[in-house]
Amino acid sequence: QQALLPVPSAPTEVKQLADSFNQLLTSLNDQMAREHQFVADASHELRTPLAGIRGHVSLLRRRGQEHPEIIADSLKYLDEESQRMQHLVENLLAISRNDQMKLSLQAVDLSDIVKTTVMGYTTEIQRRIQIQVPPTCLVLADAESVRQILMGLLDNALKYAPESSNITCALTQQNDKINLSISDEGPGLTDENKKHVFERFYRVDEARSSQVPGTGLGLAIVQQLVTLNHAKIIVADNQPHGAIFTVSFGPLVS
Ligand code: ADP
Repeated sequence: QQALLPVPSAPTEVKQLADSFNQLLTSLNDQMAREHQFVADASHELRTPLAGIRGHVSLLRRRGQEHPEIIADSLKYLDEESQRMQHLVENLLAISRNDQMKLSLQAVDLSDIVKTTVMGYTTEIQRRIQIQVPPTCLVLADAESVRQILMGLLDNALKYAPESSNITCALTQQNDKINLSISDEGPGLTDENKKHVFERFYRVDEARSSQVPGTGLGLAIVQQLVTLNHAKIIVADNQPHGAIFTVSFGPLVS
C-alpha cells in the first residue's frame, strides 16, 4: 500500500518535521494574539466615545428642557463624537478589507498620480504643496492604492504641520529604487515615536494628538497598502524640522 505522505526515514527528518510544525504553531499563535489585541483595542476605542454619547443623551433627558444651552452644547458634542466614531469604523473596515486584499500590480506613472492627487485638494492647499517630479516615472504598482497612500501622508502633513507651511512631494531615483517622499515643516517625530507610528492605534503624545482629530490608524493603513504594493516605507527627520515619509518602489523590471 502506498503512503500518502512521505514517511520520514531518519530521526533527523522527524526532528525537522517537528521543528517546522512548531514554527508554524508559534506563528499561528502570534497571529491570533495580534488579532485578539486588535479587537480589544478597537472595542476600547469605540467604547470611549459611546460612553460620552450615552452621558450626553442622559443629560439632555434630565436637564435639556429647562436649559436650552445644554441642548446646543450636547448636540455639538454628539455631532463631533458620532463623526469620530464613523471615521473610526471606516478605518477599521479599511484595515480588515486590506488584510484580505491582493493587488494586481501594473506599470503605473507615479508622476501622473502625484499631479492628479494633488489636484484633488483645494487651490489653497495646492499652493502649499511643491511638486518635484520628472515628466514620467514608471513603477510596478496599483494606481488607486498609491493614491490612497499619498493622500494618507499628505493629510497627515496638513494635519500636523502649521497652517500655511510648505509640503514637498518629490520623486527621486536611488540605485534601482524609486522614492516617493512627502516632507513637511511640522514638529517631526522623535526616534522613539518613529519606531511606533505605523502600529495600529498608536498616537504620538496624547496631549498633542488630542488637539488634532484622529484614530491612530491612518499610518497603519498606509503601511498595509505599501506592503500590498511590494514597497517599503520609512520616516526620517526633515531639515531644519519636520518629517519626511519615503515610500520606495522596486524597479519596473526585476
Ligand atoms: P492619527 O493621525 O489618526 O492620529 P496616524 O496613524 O495617521 O494616526 O498617525 C499616528 C501618529 O503619528 C499621529 O498621532 C501623529 O502624532 C504622528 N504623525 C503622523 N504624521 C505626522 C507628521 N507628518 N508629522 C508629525 N507627526 C505625525
